[in-house]
Amino acid sequence: MTNINENIDAIQKQINKTALACGRDPETITLIGVSKRKSAETVLAALEAGSTHLGENYIQEAVDKIDTLGKDLACWHFIGHLQSNKAKFAVQYFDYIHTVDKVKLAREINKQAAKIGKIQKIFLQINIAQEDTKSGACAQQAVFLARQFSQFENLSLDGLMCMPPYFSDPKNARIYFKKLARIQGEIRAAGMDNLTHLSMGMSNDFKVAIEEGSTMVRVGTAIFGGRD
Ligand SMILES: *Cc1c(COP(=O)(O)O)cnc(C)c1O
Repeated sequence: MTNINENIDAIQKQINKTALACGRDPETITLIGVSKRKSAETVLAALEAGSTHLGENYIQEAVDKIDTLGKDLACWHFIGHLQSNKAKFAVQYFDYIHTVDKVKLAREINKQAAKIGKIQKIFLQINIAQEDTKSGACAQQAVFLARQFSQFENLSLDGLMCMPPYFSDPKNARIYFKKLARIQGEIRAAGMDNLTHLSMGMSNDFKVAIEEGSTMVRVGTAIFGGRD
C-alpha cells in the first residue's frame, strides 16, 4: 500500500530541508507529482493530499484523466515526448509543456495556442547526456533554438528541462544538472531573461537537482509507488 499523503509530506520536507541547506528559498521550488500510468482515483488522492502540480507523459491517458478530474483542480504539466499531431491536445489541457525540442513542434504548438487565444508556457528540453534513447535538443543548439522559440507570439519560453541518465548514486547526475544551469545562463546572457525555470530532478536525484538550481522537480515513484 502506498500512502500518497505521507509520501508527499515526506518529499516536501526533503525539498524544504535541501533548499535551506544550500541557501535557497523552498518557495522557489515546485513539486510536480508525476502520475503517468496511475488511475484517476490515485491522482485524486494526490489532489486531496494537497498536490497542486501534476505531470503526465501520454496525451490520451492524460486527457481522459483530466476530463474525469477537472482541469482547474491543478496546474498540469506535460512531460512526455510530444508529437506535432498531438500538440492541439497538449495546448488545450496543459499549463506547461516541458518537452519542446524542435522548431517544427514549437511552430505547431504556437499555431494551436493562437487558435484558442492562449500564450502557451513551454520549456526547451535538452538531451543533456547525448543519449540516443532520449529526446531533447543538443546543448550546442540551445541558444539558437531558444531564440527561434522566443519569436513565436503565442509561446512563452520559461525554462529548460532535462533528464540525465539514471545513476544508483545520484551524485553522478550532478554534472548534468550543472550543465543545464550553465546553458540557462548562456540563454539569459543572450537576452532571454524570462527563462527562469529549470525542470530537473526525479525521485532518485531531486535533492542534487535542487542543489544545482532546480525550480521544478518531477517526482513519480517516490509519491505514487512503482509503475507496472
Ligand atoms: C516518469 C518521469 C518522471 C518521474 O520519474 P520517477 O523516477 O518515477 O520519479 C520524471 N520526469 C519524466 C520526464 C518522466 O518521464
